[in-house]
This record gives sequence, structure tokens and C-alpha cells, in this order.
Amino acid sequence: MDQQIRTVGIIGAGQMGNGIAHVASVAGFNIKLHDVAEERINAALATIDGNMARQVSKGAIADEERRAAMSRITAAPTLEGLGACDLVIEAATESEEVKRKIFTAVCPYLRPDALLASNTSSISITRLAAATDRPERFIGIHFMNPVPLMQLVELIRGIATDDHTFELAKDFVAKLHKTASVSEDFPAFIVNRILLPMINEAVYTLYEGVGSVEAIDTAMKLGANHPMGPLQLADFIGLDTCLSVMQVLHDGLADSKYRPCPLLVKYVEAGWLGRKAGRGFYDYRGEKPVPTR
Ligand code: NAD
Repeated sequence: MDQQIRTVGIIGAGQMGNGIAHVASVAGFNIKLHDVAEERINAALATIDGNMARQVSKGAIADEERRAAMSRITAAPTLEGLGACDLVIEAATESEEVKRKIFTAVCPYLRPDALLASNTSSISITRLAAATDRPERFIGIHFMNPVPLMQLVELIRGIATDDHTFELAKDFVAKLHKTASVSEDFPAFIVNRILLPMINEAVYTLYEGVGSVEAIDTAMKLGANHPMGPLQLADFIGLDTCLSVMQVLHDGLADSKYRPCPLLVKYVEAGWLGRKAGRGFYDYRGEKPVPTR
């Protein structure tokens, strides 16, 4: 394999974009971080620095490594700034329309041999690849949240993804010291195909009054040995992302068992998107999280 990945562009500096930038810069890659909202890039840089400082205080990395890693991340306020990248990973809002527009806009700036990837939780890689000029060099690289802590990365080949792209992506994941699991390109892939219907069912359980937020989360933590309750986890993922994934499952598999719970829709409509918005199934604005139902 002659082609090497050295510089990685990241589009979308939200919770996933900053996590991917974090692990890739610690692993030695140069990072160009882009977001449509410039203040999100600055906020992401501050978050990454804070998260790395926590790793330093726990002895996971040396302070010198933190400084070197931070110096490898630069802001790219425009898509043009991603022109020198060997790989660009899109981690913007989970909307097919948003992602398609991004790919159409970024392709003209990229080298012909550059790889493109999406961190989508659920959208068809084959369909996203079709919005680019390089479906054979397009792949799903799906990180888990929080990226610095979670070991798994799902790799999803679209119908056109060539072997060279797949091998480079596998090698990239290995260099991040993460474990890849390969999923076929079906709605929501493996982890979210199983996880999100469980979360949606927990929201139905709340909606139907079977239990309170606290009862449901305690039940699954202590009764199923889950490290986090499903509603706490939903807040952590982001309720907008949870709803999008359920809609993709519902539309893509046409089975009513994937119907998004109306209460989940209501929380998203209220802007109660979970932790990142300060409120979801829990209210995070006080000293400790308080259930909202
Ligand atoms: P987020 O809301 O924290 O961040 C999304 C970012 O994308 C925001 O900063 C927003 O300004 C930016 N953005 C929106 N439109 C853009 C555009 N046109 N160009 C550039 N940037 C744009 O969301 P997130 O949780 O980081 O999720 C991002 C992606 O990662 C989604 O596809 C999501 O499905 C996927 N994902 C999320 C999780 C999770 O647990 N949250 C896990 C795995 C994968």
C-alpha cells in the first residue's frame, strides 16, 4: 500500500468531530477541523484541550503528548482548507440532505486520490457515496461516543467501495488503537440497529406510564447490568440523533416495529436534545441531573 494517510480533515466539530480529532491527533495524524459555524471549531478546540488535560491528569498521556497533539490540530474555517487532506471524515448533523450538500461542496477541493468517509450512525453509505465524485474511495467509518473511551469503530463498505479504500480505512482504525467491526450497508448498521430500538422502547415505556425516567434507568442498570440507563444514554447520544436513526430504520426497513415514539419526537421538537442542549430526559442545568418526567 503506497498511499499513506497523514492529514485528516473533519467536517463537523460537534461532540463526534471533536472526539475523532482528539484520538487521531494523539495517534500522530495532522487534523484540519471544519464546521459551518466557526464558533463550534473554537469550542471544539477548547473541549479537546480540556479532555486531553484530563487524560494527562489520569496518566493516560504525557503533557508533552497533549501539547504535540494540540499543535497538530488546525482550524479550517472553509472547505477549501481541507484540500491537502488524505482522508476527510464527515461528522456533521445526522441529516441526509446536510451530508449530501457537504459532499457535493467539498469534492472539488480534494485531491483525486483522497478518501472520503462518513461517521453517519444510520444513513446508507451507498447513497451518500453517490453524492460524491469518488464512490469507490468512499466508506463509512462509524465511531462510538465518547470517541476517546470507546473501543469500537464500525467499517461500512458501500456497493462501490474498493478494496484499497477498505484496507486504508482498516489501517487507519488500527493506528488509532481501536477495533474495527465490519458491517454491511443496511440501515443503522450493527450497533445502532440493536441499540436504538431498545432506547425507543424505553421511551415508549415512559410514554405509556409504565415507569418514571428514574425507574426505567434504574431497572436497566441494575436488572440488565447496563452501565447506563437507556434514557441517560439517549441524552448522551442526543435525542435528535436518536430520532433520525429511528426514522432511517423505519423508512429503510418499512417495519412498524421501528416507529419512533411520539414522546421522543416531542422532546426533539421542544429542543430538549439531551446533554448537549442542557436538557433531555434529564435536566443538566443544576448541580446534578434531575429527571424531567
Ligand atoms: P453534534 O450536533 O454534536 O455536531 C454536529 C456538528 O455539525 C455541529 O457542530 C454543526 O454545526 C455541524 N454542521 C451542521 N451542518 C454542517 C455543515 N453543512 N457543514 C459543516 N458542519 C456542519 O452531533 P454529533 O453527535 O457530533 O453527530 C455528528 C454525526 O456523528 C452524526 O452523523 C451522528 O449520527 C454521528 N454519530 C453520533 C454519535 C453520538 O452518540 N452522538 C455516535 C456515532 C456517530
